[in-house]
Amino acid sequence: MPSLIDTQASAEVDFIPIPESASYPTGSLDFLVKFQQKEEQRLKAMRASSLINLEDRSPIRLDIIVVGAGLGGLAAAIALARRGHKVTVFEQAPELGEVGAGIQIPSNSTRLLIKWGLEPFLASKIVKPGHIAFRRWEDGKTIGLTKLIPHFEREFDAPYYVLHRAHFHDAMYQLALQLGIVVKINSKVLDYDEDAPSITLENGEIHLADLIVGSDGLKSYARTKVLGGVDQTPKKTGFAAYRATVDVEKMKAYPDTAEVCAKPNLNLWVGDMRHVMTYMIAGGKSFNMVLSHPDRSDPRTWASQSSEQVLAGMRAHFKGWDPTLTKIIDMIDTTLKWPLMSGSPLPRWVSRSNKLVIMGDAAHAMVPYMSQGAAMAVEDGAALAEALHHVESIDDLPRGLRVWEAVRKDRADKMQEASLINGKLWHFPDGPLQQARDEGMRPEVEGREYVTSPNQWSDPTTQRWTYGYDAEWEIKKAFAGLRKKLSLPEVKLSR
Ligand SMILES: Cc1cc2nc3c(=O)[nH]c(=O)nc-3n(C[C@H](O)[C@H](O)[C@H](O)COP(=O)(O)OP(=O)(O)OC[C@H]3O[C@@H](n4cnc5c(N)ncnc54)[C@H](O)[C@@H]3O)c2cc1C
Repeated sequence: MPSLIDTQASAEVDFIPIPESASYPTGSLDFLVKFQQKEEQRLKAMRASSLINLEDRSPIRLDIIVVGAGLGGLAAAIALARRGHKVTVFEQAPELGEVGAGIQIPSNSTRLLIKWGLEPFLASKIVKPGHIAFRRWEDGKTIGLTKLIPHFEREFDAPYYVLHRAHFHDAMYQLALQLGIVVKINSKVLDYDEDAPSITLENGEIHLADLIVGSDGLKSYARTKVLGGVDQTPKKTGFAAYRATVDVEKMKAYPDTAEVCAKPNLNLWVGDMRHVMTYMIAGGKSFNMVLSHPDRSDPRTWASQSSEQVLAGMRAHFKGWDPTLTKIIDMIDTTLKWPLMSGSPLPRWVSRSNKLVIMGDAAHAMVPYMSQGAAMAVEDGAALAEALHHVESIDDLPRGLRVWEAVRKDRADKMQEASLINGKLWHFPDGPLQQARDEGMRPEVEGREYVTSPNQWSDPTTQRWTYGYDAEWEIKKAFAGLRKKLSLPEVKLSR
């Protein structure tokens, strides 16, 4: 009896193949990705007995130097060490740490960090906000609303955290140590030989490696080297941010300010050329504030201002805003003023020698309006480790790095743009554009259906692109596409 499917015949006929994934924007296949991800997690949980799974190990073991022990450098070091590479981090500062207080860790970043085993190191420090509320500058009225719980966890299978930067950095450092990563402080890199490749430290020491990862921040020197000696430095935006924290106990003294910290939500007041982003950190003990405002003065002149002058300047910027907000601003004892800079897409992230790369703020500095700068650095590290996993020999390294560069540049360059666009969306003066924006966000506040929103956290297309992104998966997809182009046998994709 003939079989229902004549395999012999079907092999001979040139049928059109059904694509494994879609290249057009669609959410229709997301359930398949989620299914595979869950299955993978289940299998991993069954096997996991150590931080490094054997199946995660790269086919080759490289000696890798990471320059910079910021959040980006540590993330890259962890991602690479998990794959079995030998990683040494060189940091110029005499002590490890982070500037500023709070940081948002969005779902596209927690997806990776949880996989790496970071959660136990964060323990009681994590705050999980329920929603992000956009508030009108003048009276605090809710004009936009993004539900993080349960929406983000359900849709993107990864939570949204807010945290003290020091706690985040320390957790990464502890995990790095467990993975055997060596972090050398007081080790300023003065020069790079991109062909060797090697670094020269301030004390004259030369260190060789197979690959050097420059994660040396916004003022990166590695970037100049990658760009062949002519730097493309991030530019001023004409905006600066005051960063401050307020003790939650102080806020509990008044009913209106107590209401703001009663639940661990993110609140964002938006007005003419200014906004104030707030959320709770340190397990709910501290209220973090970032107050963005126009400032075209030279940051070099800021150091000469007394702390009273800086505080007075900050209060003047928000005079006449929502009385509850200004009451909280009045509770700030000290603040730090920070220039907001943005880079523009670089021609390359990989040096001509293919042995030196840049990532994090060095490659894609962005204004903090999408809260994605560090998240992009975490993605860069994860993606780099995944790309090296597809490299079979050291001679094959350039191919792996080029795929990584193409995928990451596309993602981070667009996030840089999305961050600037938030500055446009949030800073309208009262008038027709502000009214049209608020009208566009009204359905999400009233719980009505919507297909677009001027709130990029809620807009379904931006939301899925931003938070549903899996940096490792995108690299796997890119390599699968490459195999197809070269007519190599397909490899089954699994997360
Ligand atoms: C106000 C504000 C709010 C933000 N909020 C968020 C947020 O909520 N979520 C988010 O994801 N991102 C946020 N960001 C962005 C985020 O802070 C940065 O993108 C991230 O910290 C960059 O990390 P990095 O490791 O690339 O760079 P950096 O943190 O700058 O680290 C670079 C490291 O390299 C070291 N270094 C530099 N040169 C050398 C050298 N020659 N030799 C050795 N070491 C060297 C430096 O000392 C430093 O430790 C915010 C930024 C700002 C300004």
